[in-house]
Amino acid sequence: MAGNGKFFVGGNWKCNGSKESITRLVSDLNSATLETDVDVVVAPPFVYLDLVKSSLTYRIEISSQNSWIGKGGAFTGEISVEQLTDIGCKWVILGHSERRHIIGENDEFIGKKAAYALSQGLRVIACIGELLEEREAGNTFDVCFKQLKAYSDAIPSWDAVVIAYEPVWAIGTGKVATPEQAQEVHVACRDWLKKNVSAEVASKTRIIYGGSVNGSNCAELAKKEDIDGFLVGGASLKGPEFATIVNSVR
Ligand code: PGA
Repeated sequence: MAGNGKFFVGGNWKCNGSKESITRLVSDLNSATLETDVDVVVAPPFVYLDLVKSSLTYRIEISSQNSWIGKGGAFTGEISVEQLTDIGCKWVILGHSERRHIIGENDEFIGKKAAYALSQGLRVIACIGELLEEREAGNTFDVCFKQLKAYSDAIPSWDAVVIAYEPVWAIGTGKVATPEQAQEVHVACRDWLKKNVSAEVASKTRIIYGGSVNGSNCAELAKKEDIDGFLVGGASLKGPEFATIVNSVR
């Protein structure tokens, strides 16, 4: 851990769950014993944010999986940052590969969304990560640096940002990056921050790993110096397994 010292684990529930399954998941989280020195955040689908917020008894914060680029208004189907903060949402996940590659969001659009969210007091989990063909072509660092630059060009400060490195080939595939592969990119991103933002931001900003993290592989990944936590998809839908991941900081 080289970030600000507090391990960070986010659960990205994506487009999964029903009132019934989410109530069960929250109840599992409420009865889990979670390490206290970890920031824990869960990102339910929009329609369940309020339900999760009001039924979580633990100090877990909630995150949105997306937010609109500017002030709300005539934007059918979108959810504004103001609405998210109104219901007590503290975080937003932006730049997730599923939004980049399925919905078609580009770096500039994501940067603007991050800037607007931060301007309204919403903290940002800023995702980056390369496709398999980009890794195979030796372009992993270039892709990640370009995505980092787009955030950096748009946002005034990194204080309320956690970077999530999520290689696209590892997301939902069961093919986790090795601790060495993840560490290599995390160090490179920290160096990039040092050269392009500041040494202080480089040392303070948490860089978390995402992509097929589960209860069995988290402990080895957590040992790596520059892995400051995780963003977890599939395994975050199982309360006890998510708790194991939160507690992997031990
Ligand atoms: P996964 O998803 O853990 O299911 O691979 C991670 C993510 O998309 O954040």
